[in-house]
Amino acid sequence: MRIKPLLQARIRAPLSVVFMFGSPDYMVSGSVYIWVIEGERVVVDAGVAENSYYPIEGGGEKGVIKALEREEIKPKEVEKLVITHLHFDHIANVHLFHNAKIYVQKADWEFANNPIPIFRDLYVDDYLFKLEEMDLCFVEGDIEILPGVKLIHLPGHTPGLQGVVVETRGGDYLLSGDHFYSYLNIFPPRNNLKIENEHGKTVISAQKSPFLPPGIHVNLSDWFESCYKTMRFVKKSKIIPGHDPSLEGKVFE
Ligand SMILES: [Zn+2]
Repeated sequence: MRIKPLLQARIRAPLSVVFMFGSPDYMVSGSVYIWVIEGERVVVDAGVAENSYYPIEGGGEKGVIKALEREEIKPKEVEKLVITHLHFDHIANVHLFHNAKIYVQKADWEFANNPIPIFRDLYVDDYLFKLEEMDLCFVEGDIEILPGVKLIHLPGHTPGLQGVVVETRGGDYLLSGDHFYSYLNIFPPRNNLKIENEHGKTVISAQKSPFLPPGIHVNLSDWFESCYKTMRFVKKSKIIPGHDPSLEGKVFE
């Protein structure tokens, strides 16, 4: 099997969302992907809307259809859709996949319907209503949905985040959803890291931790436990983060 991250939109968010203790005043750009597991009719995540909580470029139904078109896939042909978690930038276009069985962790569903108040903005009722009309499969824990495709429960960022372990010729990869937004969450800088973009400059300070948590998490102990869990399934170098711009155009095989 091959894994392809297909760009659906670009989103801007404060650095404090991507990294705990990052600057709340410094905006960074992330890529929103629809993930295709080639060889099987499996898609992971359904992207963001054209207008959203954070500034968006692209997105919406058009963004999904265009992204999948490049791989000659129509959303209605997709048989299995895995939702890593129920944040607004992962499920906005779920209705396009109306013939798919949709895999969501039960714990994420329960939390999305009754979030801790500070996280209310990350959920959209309309998306949850749409999902309720679909062929939903509530997962509890780890399951194999096809030979070589496993869902693993990784609580921390949200209570029911799930990653997808995919067998390829080159070994197993983990689609980690937003457990890790970027490679810097997986490989924290050991020295102060200066970054610069059109919004100016900032520094990500040197870390002693083996992993750098995202700013958004419901339980930091769970988050670290889930990091260690990923290492039971794949090598650290085979973890694929959720929004890293460097993934555009990549193929994992
Ligand atoms: Zn996300």
